[in-house]
Amino acid sequence: MTLRKLNVILKCSPKQFVRNFSLHKLPEEHLMLQKTCRDFAEAELKPYAAQLDKEHKFPKDQIKKMGELGLLSINVSDKWGGSGQDTLAMAVAIEEIARGCGGTGTIASVHNCLYVNLIDRCGTDLQKEKFLRPFTKGTLGCFALSEPDAGSDVGAISTTAVLNGDSYILNGTKSWVTSGIEGKAAVVFATIDKKLKHKGITGFIIPMPTEGLSLGKKEDKLGIRASSTCNLILEDVRVPKEHVLGKPGDGFKIAMTQLDKARVGIAAQALGIAQSALETAIDYSCQRKAFGQPISNLQAVKLRLGEMAFRLESARLLVWRAAVLCDEPQRSTKESSMAKIAASEAATFVSHSAIQILGGMGYVSDMPAERYYRDARITEIYAGVNDVHRQLIADSLLREYN
Ligand SMILES: Cc1cc2nc3c(=O)[nH]c(=O)nc-3n(C[C@H](O)[C@H](O)[C@H](O)COP(=O)(O)OP(=O)(O)OC[C@H]3O[C@@H](n4cnc5c(N)ncnc54)[C@H](O)[C@@H]3O)c2cc1C
Repeated sequence: MTLRKLNVILKCSPKQFVRNFSLHKLPEEHLMLQKTCRDFAEAELKPYAAQLDKEHKFPKDQIKKMGELGLLSINVSDKWGGSGQDTLAMAVAIEEIARGCGGTGTIASVHNCLYVNLIDRCGTDLQKEKFLRPFTKGTLGCFALSEPDAGSDVGAISTTAVLNGDSYILNGTKSWVTSGIEGKAAVVFATIDKKLKHKGITGFIIPMPTEGLSLGKKEDKLGIRASSTCNLILEDVRVPKEHVLGKPGDGFKIAMTQLDKARVGIAAQALGIAQSALETAIDYSCQRKAFGQPISNLQAVKLRLGEMAFRLESARLLVWRAAVLCDEPQRSTKESSMAKIAASEAATFVSHSAIQILGGMGYVSDMPAERYYRDARITEIYAGVNDVHRQLIADSLLREYN
């Protein structure tokens, strides 16, 4: 870093400092995207995030605008109406969106990584015309893999798909479906033969609403409350054969490969939440006085801020690396898992620390620190719990060394 740059950084406000620090390494086009998303989040998300959280309200207007900006089809090819950008662009955009509103970050992350990009990657032209092109501009899709009795243990899913003439008949319950209330289609994973375990799992694209498909109650969550979560209940849902995603029996592989990218999306969401928490803590510590001086002068506060910043920045580097590797032909499960663990645990650490720096004001909803903490917590759980990711990393290491 040149002295001039350092000087600029040291002279700017705490908020600008954090921004400049995270800005200076990306390629030019990603920087432009970052600025667009940041401006959008500052104007359209941040001022409304507390209200969306309090009222558990879906950000309808914001999602519409994000569709218009191309932020709901970041990794979809131009041919199908998408923005045609890479995974690093997706990570940069999701971080900024989540920095404005954690719940909107979830909606954007799931739609981009687990719905539109999945169909772009695995769908037929017919499927893309019907289930991708109309979903690039603000209509949301869902990803329904988890079940009440099968979360981490995906091979145990029990929703069945039985071939009947030219269609499959699906029965079962999918749980925790993000955007299940607002979504207009879902990729639903079911088994065509439970004895085949993983090899029986198949993906089906189902329009919503559809006959036989009903929604469970909207879950009352700790955080990310702008995003809806509910069960999808399937009772004799008829799905034509041409709506099978990939080949019958390929569903497990399709889902796991897609989750490598989704973990980068969730990790980016965690970075955005952590970034906001850090900025809140810096701002507050510069303004709050105790013992005749701003608390930012106290060594205990400085040590805490330093720890928050380096954990966040090191996680960001892992996320960017994993994002770049996602676009390589070989899978990058280990790197995605590392990024997901680092960013989610940085987010819970940073938001926890932000509450501490704000003292009593950290504990009440007049300030956003408590919301960041609630929003951050889920990132250690969904897209695979962190305990499973640690095992995945170890499995990769052992394969590499043996
Ligand atoms: C708000 C929210 C949104 C979600 N959105 C979606 C969605 O859109 N689509 C979707 O399909 N799913 C979604 N999920 C589901 C999510 O991915 C699962 O909750 C997650 O994979 C964990 O599954 P589980 O809840 O069944 O926990 P379990 O698998 O029962 O795990 C519980 C705990 O057991 C331990 N554990 C389990 N297995 C292992 C292991 N192998 N090694 C070590 N420890 C282990 C861990 O401590 C773990 O935290 C969402 C969940 C939530 C809460």
